[in-house]
Amino acid sequence: MFDVQDIRKNFPILSQKIYDKPLIYLDNAATTQKPRVVVEKIESGYYSVNANVHRGVHFLSLAATEAHEDARKTVQRFIGARSSHEIVFTRGTTESINLVASSFADEFMNPGDEVIISAMEHHSNIVPWQIQAARKGIALKVIPFRDNGELDMDAYKQLFSEKTRLVSVVHVSNVLGTVNPVRDMIAFAHLQGVPVLVDGAQAVPHIEVDMQELDADFYTFSSHKIYGPTGIGVLYGKEEWLDRLPPYQGGGEMIATVTFEKTVFNELPYKFEAGTPDYIGSAALATALDYVSALGLSRIEAYENELLAYATAKMLSIEGIRIYGRAPHKSSVISFLAGNIHHYDMGMLLDRLGIAVRTGHHCAQPLMQLLGIEGAVRASFSFYNTKEEIDAFVEGVERVRKMF
Ligand code: PMP
Repeated sequence: MFDVQDIRKNFPILSQKIYDKPLIYLDNAATTQKPRVVVEKIESGYYSVNANVHRGVHFLSLAATEAHEDARKTVQRFIGARSSHEIVFTRGTTESINLVASSFADEFMNPGDEVIISAMEHHSNIVPWQIQAARKGIALKVIPFRDNGELDMDAYKQLFSEKTRLVSVVHVSNVLGTVNPVRDMIAFAHLQGVPVLVDGAQAVPHIEVDMQELDADFYTFSSHKIYGPTGIGVLYGKEEWLDRLPPYQGGGEMIATVTFEKTVFNELPYKFEAGTPDYIGSAALATALDYVSALGLSRIEAYENELLAYATAKMLSIEGIRIYGRAPHKSSVISFLAGNIHHYDMGMLLDRLGIAVRTGHHCAQPLMQLLGIEGAVRASFSFYNTKEEIDAFVEGVERVRKMF
């Protein structure tokens, strides 16, 4: 496929030892490690092109502005947006969803209106809507899922009513790994005249996404989950929607003119980018996207699917393992419990073997309640993980199980 050992050389953090054991980093759904080129881009940004963007006439300010706007074009190409002004830089998925929830509810929602979400949403695609529910009196409708972790599409279709204003759904579940059929879901919603927001935080690092093909009205993701820096992310919105939404925050950058009586807002995307943007982060995110593009998402997907299938088969051979999320179309996470072993105990003992996994509710408490568990252990894979690491991880799980 591709040379994983060669790829790993680009990620210095991976070659360290934890408790004298080689680090096995399987917490990629929480955040990914950064290739050398991304860290170098941040360093060279501060060392040689640091100046505030969009404001100066001097050389450095123009250079920083150009890098920031080039980064926007890189994001545009990466997700197949029609125009770079459909790309809004935010702090991440969470802020992107809060922006849409707040502005969309302000402009388009009245008491009694409904938003459809799914039962496998991250808190960041539940709580912003609940805040609007309290402010605006809107209601949430929740799409259930089947035992294997696939959304119930018949139930989805039945949730629509004349009060439905928006569908907001996760592309890839951070717990179950399910790759939801968002293209079909969007097509159905559009037939009812309802726009769709897609939370792509766990999708863009693993599968190719194309805004023209999906026809999503809004799409969100975080840089740190796709090998870029923390603190920056993206809201894609169709121009026709972004134009109609009011600003989320006020301040510098998002204005055209200001008097004490009245402000005229700036054009897209600046209307939604109040204050100094993370222009060092945007350039480093673009570097990360170029890095991923050079590896090739179809090759990444194929390799990660191979890791997932390999790990799933090995895990299922362990006595008493329960895997949550067995959808046929699944991305690279395995959430599991072993017998009666508490997820924290499993996580802490694996840590002692140098293996980093996630434990807890994974910011999806309603999903945990539906699964009838308090939490689970989650191993999540990246293209820089190896089969040898999975062997060590499965051995580790087996060792912990035998200890109890
Ligand atoms: N949605 C999903 C599906 C996620 O996995 C996460 C991160 N765990 C988020 C949203 C939130 O992303 P961030 O914390 O980067 O804003």
